[in-house]
Amino acid sequence: MIASGHAKAAPVLVLCRQCVRYVFEGARTCPHCHGDALEISERYRDGGYLVIETMQRIDRLREGSES
Ligand SMILES: [Zn+2]
Repeated sequence: MIASGHAKAAPVLVLCRQCVRYVFEGARTCPHCHGDALEISERYRDGGYLVIETMQRIDRLREGSES
């Protein structure tokens, strides 16, 4: 089976934990709100995004180990 760079070249987008908009994974300063994209805000946590993020991370790990 040839995995022709499946989704590996595509940049991963994650949600800014301050304004809850998409930023590139690994970006520290959010281009939208200029806040700390890695610092979890109340809005992020109370909105349930923290749970979603955790599930997405597990899904990604699972995909990686299967291919
Ligand atoms: Zn932001």
